[in-house]
Amino acid sequence: MLEIKNFNESLDKVSNIIKKYQNEINEKNILPKLSREEMHHLIDEEFPQESMKIEDLIYEIEEKVLPNCTKIGNSKFLSWIITSPSQGGILGEILTNGLNQAPFNFKAGPMATIMEELFINWMIKEFGYKDEAGGILVSGGSVSTLTALAAAREFHFPAMMESGMHSIEKTPIVYTSCKSHGSIDKAIGVLGIGKRNLRKIQVNENFQMDLDNLRQRIMQDIQEGCKPFCIIAQAGTSLTGAVDDISKISKIAKEFNLWLHVDAAYGGGSILCDSGKKLLNKINEADSISFDPHKWMFMPVECGCVLVKDRKNLFETYKMDLQKEFSYDIPIDFVDFGIQSTRANRALKLWFAIKLYGKKELAKSIENNFELALKLYYELKKIDGIEVIHKPMTAAINFYFNEKDEDEFIKFVEDEFFINTCKINSKKCIRICFNNYRATKDTVNEILIKISEFLSK
Ligand SMILES: *Cc1c(COP(=O)(O)O)cnc(C)c1O
Repeated sequence: MLEIKNFNESLDKVSNIIKKYQNEINEKNILPKLSREEMHHLIDEEFPQESMKIEDLIYEIEEKVLPNCTKIGNSKFLSWIITSPSQGGILGEILTNGLNQAPFNFKAGPMATIMEELFINWMIKEFGYKDEAGGILVSGGSVSTLTALAAAREFHFPAMMESGMHSIEKTPIVYTSCKSHGSIDKAIGVLGIGKRNLRKIQVNENFQMDLDNLRQRIMQDIQEGCKPFCIIAQAGTSLTGAVDDISKISKIAKEFNLWLHVDAAYGGGSILCDSGKKLLNKINEADSISFDPHKWMFMPVECGCVLVKDRKNLFETYKMDLQKEFSYDIPIDFVDFGIQSTRANRALKLWFAIKLYGKKELAKSIENNFELALKLYYELKKIDGIEVIHKPMTAAINFYFNEKDEDEFIKFVEDEFFINTCKINSKKCIRICFNNYRATKDTVNEILIKISEFLSK
């Protein structure tokens, strides 16, 4: 029997653990202190044969798991781009799990399906797409790019889903910036195009794809008998947050009849605020866009989204029943629009949080992140001993210490801040990322104090 007798009471206890984690989110030690080995020993055992009392199990979570979680929502978690998940998003996620809808088709998740359509339609309008556009929620940026690129491949090589790589004569070529995310390489590999057919175009001093170089490479590939079919522009590279010149890239894509995909996994969420809208100017010229609500829309993981200018392209790639005819009027079953069959109701947390906060409140948090990155930039520029690598286009900023060791700085601040190093132009640097609604001007000031203490050490 898998029923739990005191389920209601247990649910309260479980929710108490979530409360505790949330209430302590801003406390020190963002990363747990135990080593990986010590954590392993905490719970290592053979596959349990007998049942256990639920009280004891919940106690184990409280004692062993809770203290060993990373505090991703902490105001001083300034690494990577996973955002602080909003509490509205978390409540939505909890409900999602409890209600367990599986909207591959309407009956498996009736309201879930409607909510997903609604969210996709909201975002279509935000990104400036027209009614023929469509999309689907997926696990994150990696899968949304894969989902879109398969549609791009099917559009240019329509026999591919059916007959595979053997059906094409010329080598397919894809272009992206040399600063693009590794998930693109993975997708190109998985799609059978081959990573060596992914051209990594150099970037200019702002870390944006160099367009002369792009054009030259396309012409060279055509001359050599290959078939270029897709450009992937970046709207927020993971390291520097650079946004490519989408408008100009779109012209090149049109000139050579290439699919334009924009990897906006990072920057896409900022479309909700004015700075983001300006930055993502002309993104609606792209044939497809991937963006991650679990990045700059403050959603808990996992939540990615792919949008396509014409939803027919997703349908023609992913329809389950090959006899099924496409029409813009038929109600959508999401199983026909993406890779997954059984799938989570990711729309619920989005719907819940967006309604709870409203666009204005979300926009304010995103706008604030832009401002904090700029504030830190201007302050860092004033400091001797530091070389700032770029002006932030989004909310990431990178700098070198001229004479001090970057790893030592990370150690120096690690009790309070979670900050990482990365390599830019093959030199190690400090990377700080403000995709965090809890970060404030005080957070910036505290970093500056740490830096000045470190420099005078
Ligand atoms: C994070 C990121 C991805 C990958 O997205 P996941 O959600 O981690 O799968 C792709 N591209 C860029 C630019 C990213 O920042």
